[in-house]
Amino acid sequence: MRDCYENFIDGNWVAPAKGERLPNINPANRHDTIAQFPNSSAEDAQAAVNAASKALPAWAALSSHVRGEYLRKAADALEARLGEIAADLMREEGKSLPEAKGETMRGITLLRYFAGQCMLPDGETIPSANASTLLYTRRVPLGVCTLITPWNFPVAIPIWKAAPALAFGNTVILKPSELSPLTAIHIAECFEAAGLPAGVFNVLCGEGARVGETLITAPEVTGISFTGSVRTGKHIAGQAVAHGKKYQLEMGGKNAAIVLPDCNLEQTVALTLQGAFKSAGEKCTATSRVIVHKDIYDTFVTALVQKTLTLKVGAGDVADAYMGPVISAQARDRVLRYIELAQNEGATLLCGGDAPTEGDLVNGFYVNPTLFGNVLPEMRIAQEEVFGPVLAILRAADLNDALDILNGVEFGLSASIFTRSLDSALAFADRANAGLVRVNGETAGVEPQAPFGGMKGSSSYSREQGLIAKDFFTQVKTISIDRAG
Ligand code: NAD
Repeated sequence: MRDCYENFIDGNWVAPAKGERLPNINPANRHDTIAQFPNSSAEDAQAAVNAASKALPAWAALSSHVRGEYLRKAADALEARLGEIAADLMREEGKSLPEAKGETMRGITLLRYFAGQCMLPDGETIPSANASTLLYTRRVPLGVCTLITPWNFPVAIPIWKAAPALAFGNTVILKPSELSPLTAIHIAECFEAAGLPAGVFNVLCGEGARVGETLITAPEVTGISFTGSVRTGKHIAGQAVAHGKKYQLEMGGKNAAIVLPDCNLEQTVALTLQGAFKSAGEKCTATSRVIVHKDIYDTFVTALVQKTLTLKVGAGDVADAYMGPVISAQARDRVLRYIELAQNEGATLLCGGDAPTEGDLVNGFYVNPTLFGNVLPEMRIAQEEVFGPVLAILRAADLNDALDILNGVEFGLSASIFTRSLDSALAFADRANAGLVRVNGETAGVEPQAPFGGMKGSSSYSREQGLIAKDFFTQVKTISIDRAG
């Protein structure tokens, strides 16, 4: 482990032009500074854009099979360092080691999956009105793509953007969150180990507001793929539209699980808690509302509280810890403010509601797993993304009422139902206004070969992962060929 890391631009490790740096702090222990990372400037951003632009023609011209081989080699490099990179992910992000390993494995799978996509058809033939004309389409690269990513999945999200971008012939500049730069550096090291040509994949660390404008508006940039908060996403979309760029946004959620009286209670309690509290509730698809049918409300809530009280909070490498810290002191304070707000709104605090005050935990940014009962749909705790270990429990009269509550928020990322009834499951699948809907599963998680993304305020209506990832990272060229003479 080094004390200081650099940007990866044009195949070189480059210090920021102004020499400014930011510390990266372990959220489980605020006294543990992992290393210093560049806080890049517009000058650095332009250098990365120039490198990606210079590398584009040769990369785009390669056979897609060859591009796929580079992705496979990067996957092998990541796999060879799985344990080390997962441990660094845990240290800078705070999730448990098994979750960090699972996320790193997902990154490896995504690289191999998109390597495979390099061998799939890249267009279609279309019958022409003229019998001698060959009319067909080809998917061609979008160009230089800026990838702006959050801290909560610092391996998986950069890779689920970069792998399709590279597979389909684009060059990229990854701007990872300033709160999780180390894993992005490791991804660059894996591409470097794979022998990727200089400038094809660049990493620029630092605060988004300092480099965002250049990375979005530079004439050489064609596409911007963003994951993060609604506020930043809307800002980026405005800039992208004003400068004629293609953009893709995946943003927040207020995901709900519906619980019906015919559910398997034990399974429902376990998966509700997993959705709400794994990764400290900091998944965009985390369960932050549970909407419970009135006939099972008391039974379910009693079981949920009992189980929540047994959950151990601790650092990611503590074997029996269920939940780690949130990402930063600011994040912890924001979650605690939401807890206070919910109490002021009249919700009933059932457990948690504070930060641990004993032992090593006081050095980290922890919040105890928190349940609120008697939450009403119009309360802010039922409407706004908290992004922490806080679950709001709402009561519904029946399935229709539950669906109205579920859909009555600005977001539409993920939703679940727990039931044994096929009719209820199908009604839910039809009517839940969310991009990811699950029956008898937690709201969080989707397999990497399936499309991922939200509806309403959670997304810009595009999708990532799966075959559909190609839609964003390519453009369609229609080609017509006739005989000469
Ligand atoms: P954020 O919006 O604060 O930051 C995301 C990224 O945007 C970071 O890299 C940041 O540096 C950059 N950024 C900030 N200001 C910018 C600007 N002016 N120009 C360009 N870039 C800028 O979000 P966050 O706190 O890192 O992540 C948490 C949010 O991400 C939550 O809302 C969560 O729901 C969302 N999220 C969504 C998904 C999804 O797929 N829908 C997945 C993970 C996280």
